[in-house]
Amino acid sequence: MIKTLAVVPGDGIGTEVTDAALDVLQAVFQASGHTLKTESFLIGGASLDVYDTPINDQVVEACKRADAVLLGAVGGPKWDNLPPEKRPEKALLRLRKDLGLYNNLRPVKVIPALASASTLREEVVSGVDLLVVRELTGGLYFGLPKETVAHPQSNGERSVDTMLYHTFEIERIVRDAYEAARKRRSKLTSVDKANILATSQLWRKTVDRISKEYPDVVTEHMLVDNCAMQLVRNPKQFDVIVTENMFGDILSDEAAMLTGSIGMLPSASLGTGTALYEPVHGSAPDIAGKNIANPLATIASVAMMLRFSLDMPTLADVLENAIQKVLDDGYRCADLTQGALEIVGTREMADLIKGEALKHL
Ligand code: NAD
Repeated sequence: MIKTLAVVPGDGIGTEVTDAALDVLQAVFQASGHTLKTESFLIGGASLDVYDTPINDQVVEACKRADAVLLGAVGGPKWDNLPPEKRPEKALLRLRKDLGLYNNLRPVKVIPALASASTLREEVVSGVDLLVVRELTGGLYFGLPKETVAHPQSNGERSVDTMLYHTFEIERIVRDAYEAARKRRSKLTSVDKANILATSQLWRKTVDRISKEYPDVVTEHMLVDNCAMQLVRNPKQFDVIVTENMFGDILSDEAAMLTGSIGMLPSASLGTGTALYEPVHGSAPDIAGKNIANPLATIASVAMMLRFSLDMPTLADVLENAIQKVLDDGYRCADLTQGALEIVGTREMADLIKGEALKHL
C-alpha cells in the first residue's frame, strides 16, 4: 500500500517529536511492505520567519491532498507579541476550518506502569480510560464579532468574543460522540453551562433529542464547573465526554494530568476533509532543542492515524503495545521520572519503540 502524509512540525519541540514519530512510522511501514511518502511544510512561527504568514495556501492545499496530516505544535515567545492575524495559532485555526476538522478526539488512558506518576493518588487514577470529544470549529474561538476597539466612554478599550453555535454543528459532534460511546462502555456525559449560556441551552436540547436515537447509551448532562471538579475527584466515572470547543480545550488539558504528563496525550481531529493528528501539548519552548521532550504523545497520535485514516489497525495495535511494553520495562523521558528505571531522551525513546514494534512485524 502507498500512503501520503503531509507533515507540519511547527515550532519548538514540535520538530523533535514529529521527527521521532516519523522515524517510527517509516520503520513499521517498511517492515510491513508498505510505502509512506511524506512532504514537510513550515507552519506557525517557522513559517512567519520565512513567509511572514503563519501558514500559506500551498500548505493548506498539500494537506487537503494527503491521506493524513501530522502536526507537532506551534508558538513560542519570539512570536508572542505579533498582531492577532499573525499569531502562530492562526495556522491551527485555519487548518481546522479549511479541512473541516470539527471533531477532536482526545483519549485519556492511564497506563498501569504510570499510575503512580500522576499528581493524583494512584487509587483515583488507576484504571481511568476516557475519551474527550471536543467540538473544534465553533464556539468562542471562531464566532464573530471578535475584536478590541477603542472605548472613549470608559477611557480604555472594549473587547468582544462571540460564542456561537448552530444546531447542525452540535448535532454532528454529538452523533460522533454517541457512535464512539457505542464502541466503548456506552456512557455519554455531555458537558455544558446550560444554567447561564444560551449556546449551552441549545446544546443540551440537541443532546436530549439525539439521545433518543441511542437508547443503548446512558446519557448524562454535567455543568462544566462540576465536570472540572469530578475529573480530579472521581475520573473513573467517565467514558465519553462530549463538549463545545473552549470547555473541551480546558477539560482535556486537565484530564491530561491524570496520566502523569501532557507529553503522553495523543489527539485526532476528524471531519469532512483530511484528518489531522497531533499531540495535545504545545511547543514547550522551555525544553526545546534539548532532546528531552517526550515523543510518546506524538507516536500515539500516529497510532490513531494508522487506525482512523490509513486503514492499518494492526499496525496501530503494534505501536500502542510497543508504547506499553517500553513503559512497563521502566524507560521514561524526563517528564515522568516517578518509577523510572532509566531516563532516556526523545530520540532514544523513539528507538526503543521502534525496536519493540519491529519485533512484532
Ligand atoms: P506546553 O504544552 O508547550 O508546555 C506546558 C508544560 O509541559 C511545559 O513545562 C513543557 O515543558 C511541558 N511539556 C509539554 N510537552 C511536553 C513533552 N512532550 N515532553 C515533556 N514535557 C512537555 O504549553 P505552554 O507552555 O502553555 O505553551 C508553550 C507554547 O506552545 C505557547 O506558545 C503556546 O501558545 C503553544 N501551544 C501550542 C499548542 C499547539 O500547537 N497545539 C497547544 C498548546 C500551546
